[in-house]
Amino acid sequence: MSTVSTVPEQPGTFDRIRALESQYLLQNYARYPLLIERGRGCYVYDASGKRYLDLLAGIGVNALGHAHPRLTKVIREQAGLLLHTSNLYYHQYQGPLAERLSKVSGLERTFFCNSGAESMEGALKMIRSHGRKIHPDKYEIIALHNSFHGRTLGALSITGQEKYRRDFEPLLPGARFVPHNDIVALEQTVNDRTAGIVLEWIQGEGGINPISNEFGRKARELADRYGALLVFDEIQCGVGRPGTYFAYQLADPQVLPDIMVAAKPLACGIPLGVIVANERAAQSIGPGMHGSTFGGGPLACRVAIEFMDILEGLLPHIQQMGGYFRMKLEELAKRYKFIKEVRGRGLMIGVELSIPGKQIVLDAIEQGLLMNCTHDTVLRMLPPYIITEKEIDRGIRILNKVFKTAAKQSS
Ligand SMILES: *Cc1c(COP(=O)(O)O)cnc(C)c1O
Repeated sequence: MSTVSTVPEQPGTFDRIRALESQYLLQNYARYPLLIERGRGCYVYDASGKRYLDLLAGIGVNALGHAHPRLTKVIREQAGLLLHTSNLYYHQYQGPLAERLSKVSGLERTFFCNSGAESMEGALKMIRSHGRKIHPDKYEIIALHNSFHGRTLGALSITGQEKYRRDFEPLLPGARFVPHNDIVALEQTVNDRTAGIVLEWIQGEGGINPISNEFGRKARELADRYGALLVFDEIQCGVGRPGTYFAYQLADPQVLPDIMVAAKPLACGIPLGVIVANERAAQSIGPGMHGSTFGGGPLACRVAIEFMDILEGLLPHIQQMGGYFRMKLEELAKRYKFIKEVRGRGLMIGVELSIPGKQIVLDAIEQGLLMNCTHDTVLRMLPPYIITEKEIDRGIRILNKVFKTAAKQSS
């Protein structure tokens, strides 16, 4: 018993969970002081029944909020029918979901996996294999400063943020970084060795930074000129969040990638990631070259199909609510000098501050609102797509209160 003596017997659920986690979990997460017990719609609840307006939705995952009745129904039904088949056999849902993804993305072929980083790893293998077919030295990959592409070694190699990378170097050779929206730097970095260019159309972890249409177009042009694959990481900014299916569809004329990866909201909380590629890029992966045990299981795919059905009718709502939310935030920005800028598209919103955001996030939790802070000074909101004006108004009232406190403390 001596090994568990630091864990108090039953001092209340939250304390006990905290003690167990601090004793038995890898200490990689700095969690907020909140134990969530259940959720419904845009709210989550702690054990005492206190409710929190969830403007983060699991870092953009719970796209239909919590316990959506249509998702709950298909999850229940599918759990009683078939959860897993492996990819040795067919099941009913991969084909139709891939067809759906092809129609909405403008790309052709899908590979299913389980997470964002895993989809990025697959895309990196496609870039490598594509380059190698042309020349053994064609393996360089260009990505952006402040990008975030995942925590696995390959994805980290093209993540342009020192804090995520430094403990794990050396990483993959051949990664090159250029500043966000710097067309000249991009032109100077692309060469015959470039096998791929990887971009987030709107950077998420980097602080909600959209790339310009010109930059996106230039990346397309250079990828074509040098025979490189253009990859868009839509893991955070895609699948409805920007008010279009994918963020690259915001540009007019549209810039199509060769490969798009998506994950976070795709199955609304059931793990699912995808690589969607055009025919040319799809040629880089032949039989036996890639795979996944869990990827594209019947549960995740069926939930994603149900979500896509619902999403079709939700896109105008996402645009409207996004516009409304940003307008209300702009009003707050006029009132509080430490708000530097309100950015984003659709329901992917960043509020850049001139002061650190951490305490504001903690105060907001106290007041019953969840969001987070990325890049130290950018408050990030990725609310469920079903959010209403009334809920946004409530969020704004809470934010106003929290900002008022911050204004007093910083003056
Ligand atoms: C979250 C994220 C990833 C990594 O996804 P995981 O599912 O956490 O592996 C990759 N790229 C972007 C843009 C992300 O936001």
